[in-house]
Amino acid sequence: MQSHAKQVVALINQLPKKDELKFLEKQPGNKKFISETNKAFISAINGLRSLVGDIQANSTTIPFKQIEETLDQFLENAAIQYDKMNKLSLVPKQPQTQKTNQLKPKDIYGFADAIQLNKLPFIPVLKYKQYAQTELDQKIVEAQNNPFQFFEKYEIDEFAHPYYEEIMRLTPQDFVLDVPQKINRYRDLEPPIMITNADHLGELVLKIQQEVDQNGFSEIAVDLEHNHQISYLGITCLIQLSTRSQDYIIDPFPLWKQLGDMLSVIFANPKIVKVFHGAENDVQWLQRDFGLYIVNLFDTFHASKELQLMQNSFQFLLSEYCKKSTDKTYQTADWTQRPLPDEMIKYAQIDTHYLLYIYDRMRQDLKKLSKPNENISNIPNYYIESVLKRSKETGLKVYKKPLQDQDQSLQTILNKQDRRMEAKSFELMVQLLELREELGIKHDQNPRYFLPNPLLFKIVESKPTTIQELKIQLGGDKNIHDVVKENLWQFLKVLLEFDEKIPTVDIIQEEQQNPAQIQIEEVQPILQVEPLKIVQVSVGIKKFQNKNKNIVKNYLKNENVELIKSQFYCESPFKLLNVFYEGLGSQIFQSMKEQSQQQKQLVEETQQQKIEKINTSDFIKLPKLDETNRDQQKDLDIRLNNTLQNQHGTRILKRHQKIEQQRTQKTNISNRFELS
Ligand code: AMP
Ligand code: MN
Ligand code: ZN
Repeated sequence: MQSHAKQVVALINQLPKKDELKFLEKQPGNKKFISETNKAFISAINGLRSLVGDIQANSTTIPFKQIEETLDQFLENAAIQYDKMNKLSLVPKQPQTQKTNQLKPKDIYGFADAIQLNKLPFIPVLKYKQYAQTELDQKIVEAQNNPFQFFEKYEIDEFAHPYYEEIMRLTPQDFVLDVPQKINRYRDLEPPIMITNADHLGELVLKIQQEVDQNGFSEIAVDLEHNHQISYLGITCLIQLSTRSQDYIIDPFPLWKQLGDMLSVIFANPKIVKVFHGAENDVQWLQRDFGLYIVNLFDTFHASKELQLMQNSFQFLLSEYCKKSTDKTYQTADWTQRPLPDEMIKYAQIDTHYLLYIYDRMRQDLKKLSKPNENISNIPNYYIESVLKRSKETGLKVYKKPLQDQDQSLQTILNKQDRRMEAKSFELMVQLLELREELGIKHDQNPRYFLPNPLLFKIVESKPTTIQELKIQLGGDKNIHDVVKENLWQFLKVLLEFDEKIPTVDIIQEEQQNPAQIQIEEVQPILQVEPLKIVQVSVGIKKFQNKNKNIVKNYLKNENVELIKSQFYCESPFKLLNVFYEGLGSQIFQSMKEQSQQQKQLVEETQQQKIEKINTSDFIKLPKLDETNRDQQKDLDIRLNNTLQNQHGTRILKRHQKIEQQRTQKTNISNRFELS
């Protein structure tokens, strides 16, 4: 009883909600699984229900003693559970921080179709190449036109860098190598020009282009702000661009699909040096979101390496060369928000405002740097060229989607942490990682953010078997991210199925394929856990007979209701009644089983023959329970028992389904899951 009550209580609180069930049903294979188990258990549950109902109808034979004992026992179990439960129930309900339903930039600005939110490898998004020395690979075009067909046809998981030749062939440009004797100091900060539409962006591109026409070259500083939390792949939120005379802040959201074409005029132009600090990520984000590639990149991070500065961060350069400090608190702020607070815009502007000045100063220092050996002493711009070479390598980085192979992914994590895992745990972890990844794609959320790896390791170690336990492992209700909260059931399913605590979908599918060959013995081992399912399913059934509701109400004194309510933290009185009712029903069932122990043994001996003879329709209409009629009671027990043990006996199931169908032709199955 104790363990059953535990299950009952835990399950009540964790029952999949209506839409969760609907979601489960939508998964291939699951629909059959749910509706079949469902139907099979309804008869068993109705049996239990009519038991209690019949007691009431025949009030002189109410086994008060038994019910009282049941109540006591049930409450006792409640107390045992209390410690565990109140950890959760005492936590005040947090206001919902709705992150999953929050509108994303891609929805607001209508570029969702430009995000490659699928399991295919990343396809470069550029449609044509500016300043091309080689043509755009036709494979890329083919993949863009028909992604799914393409990857069926070719075994490719990465495309070559579209600007590989242009970047490799570029020789160091004089306007980069030659540093003016006198460097102009940086300008004071003035409000930047905000670019939020194509006209303004066009003007900017033209302006820089004109400078190239006049001087033969141009120089710009570029930086990006990014968000990797509210999306699966991550999203570029801001492009800061500074010329020698002006700072620009480009909002990429309203320009998303045009940005690549427009900015590639600048970014692919070898006559315009693009100065970044630490461009490794930026290079990949630009590829992923806009199909932008950088020809002629100068990365001040590499310059700081060549100069062997004490630190290589942007802040360090800023304080060294400009005697300015910057507060990096905004670095990880939510850059998707609009309008952006002035403070954040200013912060973003600073990232490029001083960068061309720093670029000048660093080139100067690189030129002055003494050369340690003969081999390089006669190469005049050895260090600047070194920086350009390193920058080329950065510019040649190819964006790849997050690792899809969770086996490999897990191995990488373990290697990094110098950690080992036994084979079985490894396999379970991979399954959980796969589920997490799928949910990440489905909800367009970062898996590593909504369910960090350490939590997954914790789950694998503790192997929770109920939603409550799972919640505790995840740090309690208020700490669980919405994406996980909405899918707790799925995670639990993986855990339970892994330990074969509930039948897997595979087995049921197998049964359907070839019902004749399935022997009952083969199915039996997994049937032992089915009471779990009975409760899950039965509580979801709307048709809660009033007479049953009343009888339970009668036995529940007010203070008991409050006690149970506080201990079980039931959300609705209806659920509470169910908790109690299921406990009660199972208790009666249990004691009846004990009473007819002898009879049961007899049944077990002859079970094999009887299975064929059971008429499942009888389970719906169970006979009235009469204490004086021992035979009837035994008979009832035998049949309930058989129902439980043979729900998967295909023939019985099929026959039962047919009867059920005829009986409730107009009953919509989904109605059964509506809680009142
Ligand atoms: P930055 O180049 O410093 O402007 O950073 C660009 C983007 O990288 C930021 O918008 C953040 O999304 C991300 N980022 C930078 N530094 C961190 C950090 N320490 N932790 C997490 N994200 C960071
Ligand atoms: Mn940056
Ligand atoms: Zn930045």
